[in-house]
Amino acid sequence: MKVIQIKCPRCQQPIYSKVKDRAFYCNHCRTMHIRNGGQNVIDFDIGEFNLNAPGERIYMPFWRLFSSFTINQSQVSGGAFHKLGRMIKGTANGGNLFIYVPAWETDVSEFKHWSMGFTENQPMYSLRPDFNNVERGPTSVSKEEAMQMADFVIVTMEAERPGVLQYLDYGLQVHDARLVYLPFVRGPSGLAPGF
Ligand SMILES: [Zn+2]
Repeated sequence: MKVIQIKCPRCQQPIYSKVKDRAFYCNHCRTMHIRNGGQNVIDFDIGEFNLNAPGERIYMPFWRLFSSFTINQSQVSGGAFHKLGRMIKGTANGGNLFIYVPAWETDVSEFKHWSMGFTENQPMYSLRPDFNNVERGPTSVSKEEAMQMADFVIVTMEAERPGVLQYLDYGLQVHDARLVYLPFVRGPSGLAPGF
């Protein structure tokens, strides 16, 4: 595995990182930064594991998109879109919503599974200040790329429910994205939430 060495922009300590990871974490001062031309120090969250979560632990990165959602018109009798309409906070016709986008390199089905699953059923977890030496999955999707996928997540959530898509007219605005590390366990059938 190829590793590169850079310096933490806050404390100047060396950081050793896998080449494919866009997010650089300083174990010394707990600063996360992304190098994208310049060095951008970012805010991020680390979720706490459920004490009883069995299996090999790993943190997987998600972009959590803070979005506003407006339903202009719809003829939808049920399914995820209807569900979204009910769960978003605000008025009956719109409100705020967190859209979750996997930040690691996924195939289409894996992407859909986690983005739809966590956007529909928002993960509940407590926060912790560090990674507690648990492995961290690499971030390969940029913040900008994630923000551009918001529409895809919403449309897919509805389109994948057979028989319920009739007509959608909605507005979606993504205001901000935050990198969130969620606890997972690796088992024989793949990744499973560990919170
Ligand atoms: Zn540092």
